[in-house]
Amino acid sequence: MQQKQFEVIIIGGSYSGLSAAMSLGRSLRQVLVIDSGLPCNRQTPHSHNFITQDGEKPQVISAKAKIQVDFYDTIQFYNGLAVSAIKTEKGFEVKTESGKVFTARKILFATGVKDLLPEIKGIADCWGISILHCPYCHGYEVKKEKTAIIANGEMGFEYAKLISNWTKDLRLITNGKSTLTSEQTQILKKHQIEIIEDEIDSVEHENGNVREIIFKNQSKVSVKAIYFRPPFEQHCKLPEVLGCELTEQGLLKVDAMQKTTIPGIFASGDNFIQARSVAMAVSSGSFAGASINRELIDEDFS
Ligand SMILES: Cc1cc2nc3c(=O)[nH]c(=O)nc-3n(C[C@H](O)[C@H](O)[C@H](O)COP(=O)(O)OP(=O)(O)OC[C@H]3O[C@@H](n4cnc5c(N)ncnc54)[C@H](O)[C@@H]3O)c2cc1C
Repeated sequence: MQQKQFEVIIIGGSYSGLSAAMSLGRSLRQVLVIDSGLPCNRQTPHSHNFITQDGEKPQVISAKAKIQVDFYDTIQFYNGLAVSAIKTEKGFEVKTESGKVFTARKILFATGVKDLLPEIKGIADCWGISILHCPYCHGYEVKKEKTAIIANGEMGFEYAKLISNWTKDLRLITNGKSTLTSEQTQILKKHQIEIIEDEIDSVEHENGNVREIIFKNQSKVSVKAIYFRPPFEQHCKLPEVLGCELTEQGLLKVDAMQKTTIPGIFASGDNFIQARSVAMAVSSGSFAGASINRELIDEDFS
């Protein structure tokens, strides 16, 4: 059976991928969106700070987006995991886990990142519920509450400074010896931010709502919220396999047109940007869609 040749394959059909699909659908482009259904915010009960959808469930926002994108009849969806992608003479060939093969002239990776949570009991259960990464997303809901930050060194200092905007009832848990400078330590003390160097054993919670942080020395501290920025990796390794360069932070390198370092491959959303939010994912996806359309027009109108 002859394979359908798409103009664009979008790998990742969450906020950024769907936003790109809308730009491309409205540009009459033949597009396939491949999505494995694991957005990074899937455990958070409510998403905030995206205008018109403030406080909405993350799944409701993406379901609404999918209905609106599905309106454009040149867009097709495939639910599954893309496991390989190769460069061909005419563009790219993408294979899914179930063995389906699709081809297209351009690829957009809107694949997000994977947060690498430490194996401390309770952290994964509370992630996105009461263990938060971003005050703009969730800080208002826990404003003025008794709060902990898990971080150390320069990042810990900057994080504590930032979060002190939302609550003054704050302690910085360095989870081992503090690497703050003495000047940073003095400034935190001046703002009544306690520095706790004890190592964390576990986080006690009820349905993801943190109650206490238990330390290895058996001491504990009860808090309502914890801020924590875990390390991350690219959710999808295919861009790297195709030769796309990463930044020092492990993000995909793109230019002002969302082009990666490999011609024909674009990236949008969390996989390239440090400021992670639905709004930024939607914005960069929308722009990537327009940029891909522009490149296709330029190639065909010569
Ligand atoms: C716990 C948590 C809470 C958050 N809360 C908020 C909030 O309140 N407000 C806010 O604005 N932002 C919030 N964010 C940030 C926001 O969720 C992200 O910025 C946003 O989801 C990024 O969208 P994206 O489309 O780039 O990536 P994602 O939403 O992560 O989606 C990537 C998609 O690509 C798919 N995919 C990956 N690899 C493949 C592959 N090989 N084949 C097929 N599909 C693939 C995944 O399954 C997934 O569906 C939160 C993030 C986290 C982690």
